[in-house]
Amino acid sequence: MSRTYGNFIDGEWTDSQSGETFEVTNPAAAGEVVSVPPASSEADVEAALDAAVAAQDEWASTPGPSRGAVLREAGNNLEARKEEATEVLVREEGKTRSEAGGEVQRAIDIFHYYGAKARDFGGTVKSASAPGKDLYTKHEPLGTVALITPWNYPIAIPVWKLAPALAAGNTAVLKPASEAPGVVSIVLECLDDAGLPAGVANTITGSGSEVGGPLIESERIDGVSFTGSTAVGTMVAETAAVDLKRVQCEMGGKNPTVVMPSADIEAAAETVGVGAFGTTGQSCTATSRAIVHEDVYDEFVAAVSDYAESLVVGDGLDDPDMGPHVSENELSSTLEYIDIGSSEGATLEAGGSRLSGDDYDDGYFVEPTVFSGVENDARIAQEEIFGPVLAVVKTDSFEDALDLANDVDYGLSASIVTQDLSEGKRFVNEVEAGVAKINEKTTGLELHVPFGGYKDSSTNTYREQGDAGLDFFSSVKTIYENY
Ligand code: NAD
Repeated sequence: MSRTYGNFIDGEWTDSQSGETFEVTNPAAAGEVVSVPPASSEADVEAALDAAVAAQDEWASTPGPSRGAVLREAGNNLEARKEEATEVLVREEGKTRSEAGGEVQRAIDIFHYYGAKARDFGGTVKSASAPGKDLYTKHEPLGTVALITPWNYPIAIPVWKLAPALAAGNTAVLKPASEAPGVVSIVLECLDDAGLPAGVANTITGSGSEVGGPLIESERIDGVSFTGSTAVGTMVAETAAVDLKRVQCEMGGKNPTVVMPSADIEAAAETVGVGAFGTTGQSCTATSRAIVHEDVYDEFVAAVSDYAESLVVGDGLDDPDMGPHVSENELSSTLEYIDIGSSEGATLEAGGSRLSGDDYDDGYFVEPTVFSGVENDARIAQEEIFGPVLAVVKTDSFEDALDLANDVDYGLSASIVTQDLSEGKRFVNEVEAGVAKINEKTTGLELHVPFGGYKDSSTNTYREQGDAGLDFFSSVKTIYENY
């Protein structure tokens, strides 16, 4: 099953102007071509910007309830195509059928959520300082926005940018990641079928530098919302800052779970294991460090290693516990970090190898991997691996655990497993992370709460999701009326 689609520009599916395409292959069976999208260039970016800018005024003046109705209908259309979208997502990105189905459902829910929010979009009336005067704020769209997204949540992230952007009255040009762009084409079809006017949402596929570069540099763009690596995001933020575009970049993580002696260790091992190995460790919020008190350290290491070894790895279409890496590059990077972990003196407790044999040879499969005896300044405890590799670090006190949790450049998500309420409260108050949790895995966040990181995980400008999503995509005007 190979899906061929074009760029979606001004309400039409078109080839790239050069006619070039590229192949997206199945990470569980690398010989299988899943889709053949356009390899676009600056000329295509300009065409998409022509359409988005031309559509801007009319969409901005479309009443919020009418904009919301289109988003809700797009959600309904996606719901009707949930199975198809799930299958495309699994074949391109590799996650399990259950994980992919949950992600498509998230996209449906986001369309419904911002569909309702579009109705509320407006402003606030404030008390004026004199009679005969009205003082209020009015939220206006930014204009035309660029949305650049990664491959690891190839439908949820595009939709959690697109839906609030459109709800707030912006037009958009979206560039999905080249590893898994196919499911976004289904999203655009759902919006088109819902009656979205031509030019309001456009998508262009192609390389980061050839499509993403000209897009963020364009003077016709009023805002840039990027999710991806800290290296690329930093460059995106610097480029956008040159002409003072509004910019938000959500980036990498090195997320810790602290395990204290009062925890139920079996349950803690599962909390950490699900956070570390779910989505093959390819989540920005994946648990990549467990910081474990010495009193329960050996017990925890044994339990989490058993958990890792119990996982069935396979083709996501068969709905195993864990799918493959998305690409050969990501697989190589993880295997390199496993070598680094061993050479740094950590003890390999589980996994550590690429999987081989009939079911595995054509895909990018690696074993869920646990290292114990990891020093917090080791590279595997400091650098984002973005694979199923857990570093277990020993601590002797709550204070030390908190210091270790914070002693990293990233600050996306963090959690603690404890039955001691004071420890839990202190942890969420003092940990340097945009998301802090007690007795829960570091992954997962509901769609109506703000999401973003501290430190190198974020530009720390605006959060995403919930009301924060609308804040990013709008300007606030303060209005005085004397009469
Ligand atoms: P990436 O930075 O390589 O790519 C992200 C997007 O940027 C892609 O669409 C890519 O084509 C584009 N891009 C690349 N070079 C560009 C350039 N020069 N100009 C403009 N665009 C360019 O990231 P990835 O490998 O796709 O995704 C994995 C990363 O994303 C991880 O670091 C992960 O932690 C992060 N991530 C963060 C969050 C979050 O919310 N904080 C969520 C998911 C993923």
